[in-house]
Amino acid sequence: MDKELEKYSIEKFGKNIYQDAIDKWGENSQFDQMIEEMAELTIALSKYKRLAYDNMLEKPEDKVMDNLYEELADVKMMFEEMEYMFGREKINQWYDKKMQKFFEELYK
Ligand SMILES: [Mg+2]
Repeated sequence: MDKELEKYSIEKFGKNIYQDAIDKWGENSQFDQMIEEMAELTIALSKYKRLAYDNMLEKPEDKVMDNLYEELADVKMMFEEMEYMFGREKINQWYDKKMQKFFEELYK
């Protein structure tokens, strides 16, 4: 488990919310939750894209936008939980590699 995130959580919330979630619902349910939130974001983004681009609406209605922001936040929260569970060091190593490749592709 990621010790830096544990420290951050305790400083911000007075508790290790990442570990408390595992203790309350179990590791397996955290994976299910991550998968479900990603699926919900897929739907929200797809809906936004359909209205904003395919239907050429300048700005989709508020409930579509609210749903998109909500699902982005849900995925962000669950991604933090995954970072806690798997540790950010390895993820960040891959992130740096991927960003380097992305940078090269973008500016070649
Ligand atoms: Mg959700």
